[in-house]
Formats: sequence, C-alpha cells, structure tokens
Amino acid sequence: MDLRPNSDEARDIAYHFHSYTNARVHEQVGPLIMDRGDGVHVFDNHGNKYIEGMSGLWSVAVGFNEQRLIDAATRQMQKLPYYHNFAHRSHGPAIDLAEKLISMAPVPMSKVFFTNSGSEANDTILKMLWYRSNSLGKPEKKKVISRIRGYHGVTIASASMTGLPCNHKSFDLPIDGVLHTTCPHYWREGRDGESEEQFATRCAEDLDAMIQAEGPDTIAAFIAEPVMGAGGVVVPPKTYWEKTQAVLGKYDILLIADEVICGFGRTGKMFGCETYNIKPDIMTMSKQITSSYFPFSAFMMTEEVYAPIADESGRIGVLGHGYTGGAHPVGAAVALENLKIIEERDLVANAAERGAELQAGLRKFVDHPLVGEARGVGLIGALEIVAPEGRADEFAPGKLGAALNAQFLKNGLISRNLGDTLAFCPPLIITAEQISEILSAVDRSLDGFS
Ligand code: PLP
Repeated sequence: MDLRPNSDEARDIAYHFHSYTNARVHEQVGPLIMDRGDGVHVFDNHGNKYIEGMSGLWSVAVGFNEQRLIDAATRQMQKLPYYHNFAHRSHGPAIDLAEKLISMAPVPMSKVFFTNSGSEANDTILKMLWYRSNSLGKPEKKKVISRIRGYHGVTIASASMTGLPCNHKSFDLPIDGVLHTTCPHYWREGRDGESEEQFATRCAEDLDAMIQAEGPDTIAAFIAEPVMGAGGVVVPPKTYWEKTQAVLGKYDILLIADEVICGFGRTGKMFGCETYNIKPDIMTMSKQITSSYFPFSAFMMTEEVYAPIADESGRIGVLGHGYTGGAHPVGAAVALENLKIIEERDLVANAAERGAELQAGLRKFVDHPLVGEARGVGLIGALEIVAPEGRADEFAPGKLGAALNAQFLKNGLISRNLGDTLAFCPPLIITAEQISEILSAVDRSLDGFS
C-alpha cells in the first residue's frame, strides 16, 4: 500500500466509508483502487492488470470500455439530460425501454415500473403488493417468503428479504412479515442418501409447511433468484422450480423472480426464468440492464398484478410512490443501447458457449483437495473451498476463501469470496482464450496454496 499521507490510498482510508467492508480492517489494509477498464480487464492505479472475473458486481455484461454506451449516454445528456415520470410526464427513452422489456419478457407482462437499484426495485415491489392486497380487500395478505441465503438488496424491506446474517445482525432486521424458507443448496443442505430430486421435494414441502403454519391467506408472494448469486451461487437442484411453483399455485401466492443477476443472458438464456421454466408474476431487473454504466433498475408485472394497484390509485387519487431518478432518461438510453448490443452480438449465445467452457473447467478442480464442489450454469459459477482433510478446525469460516481470493488477485484474477465460496461471473463478451486465462489463474492459485 502507498502510505504517503497524500496518496489515494491514505485519502481513501481518511474519507471514504466503504460498502460491504470491515471498516476497522480497511483502516489497516487500505483499498485496491481501480483506474481504468478495457474489455474484460481492469487496471489498478499502479498499472496492474486483472481479468474481471466478477464483471464488477455481477453486472458489466459488455466489458469496461464500450464506446456505444458512452455515446448513447452522451447523446441523451445533450438532448434531455433529465426528466421524470411523475404526474403523467414521460419521455422517449422510458417509453421505448418499457416497450422493449415487455417484448422480451418470458411470460406475458403488462407494465414496467422504473427504479434506481435492485434494492429499491424489490422494496417497491413489496410496497406495491401491500397496496394491491389492500385494494383487493385482503389486508391480511401481506407477508412475503424468501429463502435463507437469498439476496434481494439492503434497504429495509429488501434487506429483510435477503436471507444472510450480516444483512440482519445489528440492523434490527428482518421486519415483521418477512419469512425465510430452506436454502436449495443440495451440496450443503442435502441429507445422507437423499437424491437431488428428493431434496427438491423436501424444499417444496418446507415451503408448503411454512405457508400452512402462517396461513395461506396471509402470504402475498414468494421472492427468489432463479440462481442465487450473492448467497453463494446456488444452482437449484433438479425439479426444484417445478415443485416450488406447484406449491405457490396451490395457494394463490405470487412469484417474484429476482433477475437482478440472472437477467439479460447470464445463465445462457435471456432470463434465468427461461433456463428454469419459471413463470413469474413479477420480475426484478437491474445490473446487466445497463451493464452498470448507469444506476438503473426496473420491475415488470402481469396485468393481474397491475390492475388492482391501478384501481387503488384510482380510488385514492394518486399512487404515492416514485423516485426522482426513476426512469432516468440517460439510464434508459444506456439500457436500450446495451440491450441492442447484447442482441446484435448474440451475447446470450456467447454466455451459453463460453459458459459451458467455464463450467467444464471449474468442474475439473473438484479433484483438488481444497475444492469441495464446483457449480454453476452459463457464465455464473463457483468453487466451494474446504479445509484439507482432518484440518477443518484450523480455519474459521471464510478464512480459506479469503486467502484463496487474495491468491487469485496476485495471479491477476478478480473473483469474490462469499465466505468460502469463490464466485465467477465474467462479462458476457468474454472469449474462449479469456475463459482459459481465468481457469489457469485459478489453477496456479490453488497450486500455490496447497
Ligand atoms: N437482487 C439481487 C439478486 C442482487 O444480486 C442484488 C445485488 O447484488 C440486489 C437485488 C440489490 O441490488 P442493488 O445492489 O443494486 O441494490
């Protein structure tokens, strides 16, 4: 670390309070400062080059210097840098993008609502569902079920729906009415002798039992990512989605598919819902919608979800919800151009093809004594790091993952350790050679480690 008092590192420690960081450790170790990007690579302020194996935060689909997005933002900045959609106002990019998203939806959808982040979108969805239940004369139907280790954001409602301890502990969360059911991670949660399908049945039975215990008329929705991301890249066990949807269908419970990571190609199809034959009532979208060049999010809903909400606003006189930056014209213009690039360059097919290479490569590491499981689908994957045999007591949870992640960095690879899970989620533009670059950095790091 550059310790000169006026270095970027020292000033970062002095003034910058970081997200998802141990603040006291940060004061000692300082930041890794990124300076510029080029395709799937980023360079730090000392000129070191890294392959960005996480697409930033699971989000930069088109790489780190896409001129077309810069041009789209510039054009919109010059024409109309800001407008909103309050009180019947609108603008071209919002209209075009809403129409585009509806046309892309994996099931018939009716309306798009724009927000600024994944958290805000999920928070808004919960509010809308409360509003809808009141509209339907079912004020008791307000609870939402999410999953242990699910990730839905950090605002009060979305952090409550998130099922990770660090998002609840000392924040006095979750709020009442948010419940968490079984995490569908077969490797971790499956019982001795239980097949993947049997485990999926058990997950569905747990959900059913929770609904019965709470009272089916009190549950508005179930929220889930098609593939869990931040909770550890959890790929659903075979038959999970089919069985889960059957339970929800029995009780008239809406399904919110949180496509914030899976959406726009990540799993090798345009949406995770298509990969797993999920029929959502509401879909959350963010991250890859603009390749994160602009903070942006949205959710779309079926007519059945929308109509009672619209009716209630008609009765009250106005829908009392919206954000100054919601439907931002620059974000919408960037999203439109980004989606055009994804389609024109067939990046979804690239995610499927390069994804197959990534998955095959990761699975080869399961023979390594430190690798417990390799998993993933398309261009999202993970290695589960385990202690060498007989030495589990020596390593606190997350310690090995953090150490291996540091080793990756030395080998020019950016991953993210979610406890002892090392995640991989490279940009959708990645080439076969660059997949090999990731895999060889992992190989070298594991070798240097054992
Ligand atoms: N939902 C999912 C599935 C996510 O992965 C994330 C962020 O990682 C969020 C919601 C929250 O998004 P944001 O960080 O933009 O609030």
